[in-house]
Amino acid sequence: MTAYVFDPAPQAAASVRGSAQRYAVQRIFCVGRNYAAHAREMGGDPEREPPFFFNKTPAHLVSSGVTLPYALETRDLQHEIELVVALGQPAFRVTPEQAQDCVWAYACGLDMTRRDLQGAAKKKGQPWAFGKDFEGAAVLGELVPAHQIGHPARGAIELAVNGTRRQHGDLADMVWRVAEVVARLSRYYHLGPGDLIYTGTPEGVGPVQPGDRLTGRIEGVGEIELAIGQSQ
Ligand code: MN
Repeated sequence: MTAYVFDPAPQAAASVRGSAQRYAVQRIFCVGRNYAAHAREMGGDPEREPPFFFNKTPAHLVSSGVTLPYALETRDLQHEIELVVALGQPAFRVTPEQAQDCVWAYACGLDMTRRDLQGAAKKKGQPWAFGKDFEGAAVLGELVPAHQIGHPARGAIELAVNGTRRQHGDLADMVWRVAEVVARLSRYYHLGPGDLIYTGTPEGVGPVQPGDRLTGRIEGVGEIELAIGQSQ
């Protein structure tokens, strides 16, 4: 048995609807600007740009229902509700037609963002890590296996803060469909079980404050909840 100088960290994992088994998470990929209206609100031109990606650290994954302390060193913590896909088969250089079969489950996710730090990094051409990858930045609802719900191509995706709807879109408005996202990413990585992909957010992103309660849903997939606590 391998001996470690320090105890290994717990395995990052997601709960699965209707199962006592959990889904072990190895990598988290995120797509930027994948809904036309959101790309425009971020100052981009969605129609001509191929999808681009950034990453979150699996250790920064938290489950739906937790209270997330307001993030450190930001004055503009924002919500982005997203459809998340969990892969269940190896995917390497797959076509969009092949890619769908590699998706094992779907979930609601929140790509929490320190928008001020992201904006400062963009201006300087610096990495997005401080803006996107911090403790609690990847919120995830329970995974719902595709064999239960199929592969959703349309349906409302929406988020409310304290009961007031802030974000609203439809999965059909994604610039790059899930299968196209997986296919493209599979050119750059040997994808497989353990890989999560946050597929981008519709318009209406905005700030949260300590005391806020976020509730989101994706039609045909599920729901997600998050409370924002004091910074600590
Ligand atoms: Mn996002």
